[in-house]
Amino acid sequence: MRQVPTVKLLIGGEFIESTTTEWRDIVNPATQEVLARVPMATVAEVDAAVAAGQAAFQTWRHTPIGVRARIFLKYQQLIRENMKEVAAILTAEQGKTLADAEGDIFRGLEVVEHAANIGSLQMGELANNVATGVDTYTLQQPLGVCAGITPFNFPAMIPLWMFPMAIACGNTFVLKPSEQDPMSTMRLVELAIEAGIPPGVLNVVHGGEQVVNAICDHPQIKAVSFVGSTRVGTHVYQRATLSGKRVQCMMGAKNHAIVLPDAHKEQTLNNLLGAAFGAAGQRCMAVSVAVLVGEAQAWLPELVQRAKTLTVGNGASSGTDVGPVISCAAKDRVESLIAQGEAEGAKLELDGRLPALPGALKEGNFVGPTIFSGVKPGMAVYEQEIFGPVLCVAAAATLDEAIAFINANPNGNGTSIFTQSGAAARRFQEEIDVGQVGINVPIPVPVPLFSFTGSRASKLGDLGPYGKQVVLFYTQTKTITERWFDDSSVSSGVNTTISLK
Ligand code: NAD
Repeated sequence: MRQVPTVKLLIGGEFIESTTTEWRDIVNPATQEVLARVPMATVAEVDAAVAAGQAAFQTWRHTPIGVRARIFLKYQQLIRENMKEVAAILTAEQGKTLADAEGDIFRGLEVVEHAANIGSLQMGELANNVATGVDTYTLQQPLGVCAGITPFNFPAMIPLWMFPMAIACGNTFVLKPSEQDPMSTMRLVELAIEAGIPPGVLNVVHGGEQVVNAICDHPQIKAVSFVGSTRVGTHVYQRATLSGKRVQCMMGAKNHAIVLPDAHKEQTLNNLLGAAFGAAGQRCMAVSVAVLVGEAQAWLPELVQRAKTLTVGNGASSGTDVGPVISCAAKDRVESLIAQGEAEGAKLELDGRLPALPGALKEGNFVGPTIFSGVKPGMAVYEQEIFGPVLCVAAAATLDEAIAFINANPNGNGTSIFTQSGAAARRFQEEIDVGQVGINVPIPVPVPLFSFTGSRASKLGDLGPYGKQVVLFYTQTKTITERWFDDSSVSSGVNTTISLK
C-alpha cells in the first residue's frame, strides 16, 4: 500500500510530526486521490508553538528593520522561482486551474513585496515644539505573538496576507492553515524559512475547531487575523476579543454586479462569467448576483449561451475553465441549493449539476456553471453564500433601484458596476454601502498599496489585512512626549496644572 505523506507542524524552527491521534485526509477534489494526511494538533502543540513565538519575540522585536526587510526581498525571489511547483500542489489539493493557482500565489507575492518595504511603512509621526522645548513623536511597536486562521479557497494568498506583514512589523506568528488544503501553504512556509525567517518567528499548527479555540483563548497571543465564513468568523471574533485580543475577521459575502444598458456588452458578459465561475465560484469576491438594469435584461440569453462554452474539468488539464468544488460535502450543498432555488420559483436557465466528464473524473466534485434568473430576496439561493459556480440574476428598472437592492443585502464585501457613464459610476460609488467597489472591474480586490476593505456583515474589526491598515493592526502606537533641559533652562518652580508650558 502506498505510504501517504503527513503534513508537519512547524514549531521553533523544526518541522515536526504531530503526536496527535486525530488525522484527516487531504483529497484531490478532481479525482478523490488521497494526497496526504494532516494532523489535528493537540492543545499542548499549540502551547509549544506560542511558547516558541514568545521566546523568539524577545530578539526578533529588536531586529533592525533592514534585516527584516531583506528576508522578504529574498522570500519574494524564492516564491517566484518556485511558482510553478507551488501552483501544481495548490491545484492538486484545491482544484482551481493551474493559471488561477498562479494568480492565487501572485496576489500573495504582492504582499510579500510590500512587506519588503516595511522600512517606509512602519514609520511614526513627529510634531516639533508642541509646547516650549517639547516634541511629540510616535513609535509603531510590535505586539508579540500574533496568529492567523485561514480558509481553503486561497491557500497561498491569504496566509501571505497575514504572516509576512505581521513578521515584518517585528511580531512572531502562529499560522493555522485550512485543514482542507494545507500543502501549498506549507510549501510557502518552507520557502519563508529558507529565506531566513529565524526559528520561532513563524510557527504552524494544523487543526480545526479545537485548535482555533485554543488560539482564541491563549493569553500570550496578542492579535488574531481570521479569514473564512461568517459563522466561524463571528465565533472567533467574540471568543478572541473576550480574551482581550485585537481581532480582524474577513468573512462571507454575496457580491452583486450591476449591468447598465450602456455597458460595453462583450467585455461585461465575459467579465461577469469569469467572476462568477472562476475558481468554481469559490472566491469571497466572486460575483454571485448580476443585477441587470432596464434593457440590459435582454442580454440574459447571451450570458447563458456563453456560460455553456466554459469547460469543466481537472484544474491541472490545459483548457479547463471551471475546476471542482473543494469537497463532496460542498458539492452536495451546492446541488441541494440549486434544487431549492428551483423549488422556490427561481428560473433555472442553466443547470450545472452532473456535468459530462471523462471516466477519470467521474468521482470528482464537479458542478458546472449554473444560472438562475428571476431571483428574489427570501430565496435560499439569494440569502445564502452558495460558494459554488452559481450565478443569480435579478432585474431592476433603474440604477437607483439596483443600488437599493444591493444596500438591502447584509453583506458588504465587494460589488461592481458595468457602464460607460461616468456620472452613473460616480453615483454608484457614492451611494453603495459596500466596502470594495469595482467600476468595470468585476473582482475589485485592492493591491497591497491599499488594504482589503470589506464591510458590514462581511467583516468584524476595524482594520483590514495588508496595506497601511495592517501596520496599525499589527503594532501598538506609543506616543513619546519629550523635553530636554539644557544648562540655560531656568526652573519656573512647581507647575500643578495639566498644561505643557
Ligand atoms: P471556514 O469558516 O469553514 O474555515 C475557516 C477557518 O476556520 C479554517 O481554518 C477552519 O479550520 C476553521 N474552522 C472551521 N470550522 C470551525 C469551527 N467550528 N470553529 C473554529 N474554527 C473553525 O471557511 P472556509 O469554508 O474554509 O472558506 C470559505 C469562506 O471564507 C467563505 O465564506 C468565503 O466568503 C470566506 N472568505 C472570505 C474572504 C474575505 O476576505 N472576506 C476571503 C476568502 C474566503
